[in-house]
Amino acid sequence: MYNEKVDCIGCGACSEHCGLGLDPCNLMKLYNDFLDGKEEEVKAALAEYPEGKGPDRCFGCGACQFWCPQKIDIWHTMGTLVNLVK
Ligand code: SF4
Ligand code: SF4
Repeated sequence: MYNEKVDCIGCGACSEHCGLGLDPCNLMKLYNDFLDGKEEEVKAALAEYPEGKGPDRCFGCGACQFWCPQKIDIWHTMGTLVNLVK
């Protein structure tokens, strides 16, 4: 499957509204970095992620997406990132 980068501007609005305290802003950056060919750097960054704060913890509530000015499908992008780094 072909994955496209997300048009994230790094505003951080998503991260302010995640009830689990995840940081989708940074995770969207890592997703884009992965698609830019930085696979190993992204895997290393996620391996160092705080316990319970990785993209696999996202349960798709959509709260972050509601606030995203770019209307990014954060939930599905989280899932794609999880699969990419497997
Ligand atoms: S969809 Fe995921 S990242 Fe977004 S607010 Fe919900 S749990 Fe957090
Ligand atoms: S709210 Fe949208 S544009 Fe802003 S950091 Fe999050 S994903 Fe990127």
